[in-house]
Amino acid sequence: MPRMKAAQISKPGGDWELVEREIPEPGPSQVLIKVEACGICHSDVLVKEGLWPGIQYPRVPGHEVAGRIAVVGGSVSVWKPGDRVGVGWHAGHDFQCEACRRGDFTMCSKRKVTGINVDGGYAEYMVAAAEAVALIPNELSPEQAAPMMCAGVTVFNALRNSGARPGDTVAIHGVGGLGHLGIQCARQMGFNTIAIGRGKDKEALARQLGARLYIDSAVADPVNELNKLGGARLVLATAPDGKAISALLGALSPGGKLLVVAAPADALTISALSLLNSRTSIAGWYSGTARDSQDALEFAVVSGVRPMIQVYPFAQVAEAFEQMIRGKARFRIVLTMGN
Ligand SMILES: [Zn+2]
Ligand SMILES: [Zn+2]
Repeated sequence: MPRMKAAQISKPGGDWELVEREIPEPGPSQVLIKVEACGICHSDVLVKEGLWPGIQYPRVPGHEVAGRIAVVGGSVSVWKPGDRVGVGWHAGHDFQCEACRRGDFTMCSKRKVTGINVDGGYAEYMVAAAEAVALIPNELSPEQAAPMMCAGVTVFNALRNSGARPGDTVAIHGVGGLGHLGIQCARQMGFNTIAIGRGKDKEALARQLGARLYIDSAVADPVNELNKLGGARLVLATAPDGKAISALLGALSPGGKLLVVAAPADALTISALSLLNSRTSIAGWYSGTARDSQDALEFAVVSGVRPMIQVYPFAQVAEAFEQMIRGKARFRIVLTMGN
């Protein structure tokens, strides 16, 4: 049996284990992917620390996967060996439930998550459902494509479905792993893009990424600053800080929306009067399908949006993960399989 290297977690809070496993065989509606690069996402902590209800161990995390199709299952006709493909958070759906019957595949009642419900891309090979696979354009390297499969598609899909229109004022809260992509996407979609960060040190970068204005929340109140400009049509909350996100409801123009893609540990505290008086709304956004991810990749090609990455060899997974946890990543860490 041919074997592969994989990085697994075998219990909640367990250490990274570099192990050898048999290369998995794809089922009839699956493909086998030779992984070339895999991004490290903060959500991988759910596997590391056992925070996902019902998670089974051992588990190979990784839901920002870029590689090549190695083998296709017997009933797969859309993919062929050698295709450059990516796999993201959405690992597949059942095509049967009420949400699927309405074509709303990410809301599938039996949806699976890559690297959580099934093994992911911290390995030399992985199996993926055919419907969970996106084609990677030739213009993007595996290392550039990988972070687009979770961070990239999340902000891209949230912004393009937000209802904001070209020229609208859109504030991106947070200049980090999600935010640095959010600023670029918002600018390239034609929004009047404003970045909100903490500290002067991020201003130059935020402007370089496309922000027309940078609000330093360490020295100015973002709500006041945005209201001086007439308020934001949309605030995209990418920084995991429930208190700061809650306050930003007051920064919206009438009818504006606070769109949350961060997952703070602390609760949001929302004033109903604030919602009523300005007819504002607060909503979340959930990732996207594989075709949404492919749209995000294609948008990156036409717009020049690129993740800022730090590349680590696969064998240094523990060190790379630690770098991400400490908040030191600038801004997405990608493991490269060196093949
Ligand atoms: Zn992720
Ligand atoms: Zn379904």
